[in-house]
Amino acid sequence: MSISQLARSIADSPTLRLNEQARLLRDRGLPIIHLGIGEPKNKTPITAILAAANKLNSGDVKYTPTDGTPGLKKAIIKYTEENYDRVVDPENIIVTNGAKQSLFNVLFSLVDPQDEVIIPAPYWVSYPEMVKMAYGIPIIVTPKNGGFYPRMEDILEAVTSYTKAIIINSPNNPSGMIYPPDFIQEIVEYCESKGIYLILDDIYHRLVFDGLNAVPGYQFTDHDIESTKVIVTNGVSKVYGMTGFRIGWVIANRRLVEVMTNVQAQMTSSPATILQSAAEGALNGIQSYVESLRLTIENNRNVVMQELRSFNGIRINKPQGTFYCLPDFRAYQEDSVKLADYLLKKALVVTVPGVEFGIEGHLRISYSGTVKEITEGFARMKWALDPESPREIYIGDRKMIRDWL
Ligand code: PMP
Repeated sequence: MSISQLARSIADSPTLRLNEQARLLRDRGLPIIHLGIGEPKNKTPITAILAAANKLNSGDVKYTPTDGTPGLKKAIIKYTEENYDRVVDPENIIVTNGAKQSLFNVLFSLVDPQDEVIIPAPYWVSYPEMVKMAYGIPIIVTPKNGGFYPRMEDILEAVTSYTKAIIINSPNNPSGMIYPPDFIQEIVEYCESKGIYLILDDIYHRLVFDGLNAVPGYQFTDHDIESTKVIVTNGVSKVYGMTGFRIGWVIANRRLVEVMTNVQAQMTSSPATILQSAAEGALNGIQSYVESLRLTIENNRNVVMQELRSFNGIRINKPQGTFYCLPDFRAYQEDSVKLADYLLKKALVVTVPGVEFGIEGHLRISYSGTVKEITEGFARMKWALDPESPREIYIGDRKMIRDWL
């Protein structure tokens, strides 16, 4: 079979692959603990359910404008004003089938063949593949000091005359770090002055801990929405825990929104009508949902930190947001794929190899699940890796004895 070169070059999504693997193992009756998944356990906000149910009950479920319903756009305008202190027009917004499509629309609409897009590591797995799908070249920038924060000097070294855009994701998947406001200011000012697009993936922007804030990039530019190089992508998946609803959006200048609307019109048309109603319900509804989700996740983060501290040899940067952490497991194993495989086989715990996010020797561990899953998951990992932990453990109702350490 003849498959296109481009399609052949696109990697599968490791996180979606792991979800599937975990599901198959669970179907076989194995007591899997899934610390790889990136979605909160909360129930859908009731206002989202009611809005979707009303739309469905109306029996009037047709195409909407490709770039989203006026009602949802109005809610996004309000959201942008409240959270970003920016007034935008409906023509500055495109509603998409999830933040993934938001990013794809942006990249597909901006990138010419051979254009370069700078991606600081550690990065979300889909960025490099999406850049490739737009025939661009992903340029990965790894901080030379080995940290999780990108440094302006490393980024400047990577800029060439082909640099079209830089993607920044803070709070960051997979590290959980919020980039310092000074860095955001510097990069916004740099991109504005050089005419390089700055794509801010803000999907976790309200899932922040310890009273910290992820400062909006808009804060550091005097340009109006039509002339700024800052582009914001967002959605309801993480902050509202509505991953299955598949609604995201982009805020950008009118011309770019127009072009992205053409791209989306030829590819998927409007996002599903009922799901747009649900997103509108969530954005317009009581926002205490977001705060209670944030508190639950912050508590989970604290539990993870406690577990990790009792683990000999693991180094960890305390996450400041998201629901991920990225501990350094090199004391046990340098190869993160081997380590994740080992933990799945021996301890039935799913984690994601750091190498998928551009950082070897680490594992991405999600704490979006329950405290019970987290504590049990860590107990099993400790048992499998740490010779000083007790040799016996119950996994499900089976007593397991460690005979390899
Ligand atoms: N950006 C980042 C950093 C993400 O982690 C994710 C989801 N894992 C997305 C975008 C995509 O979100 P959505 O579910 O809305 O497509």
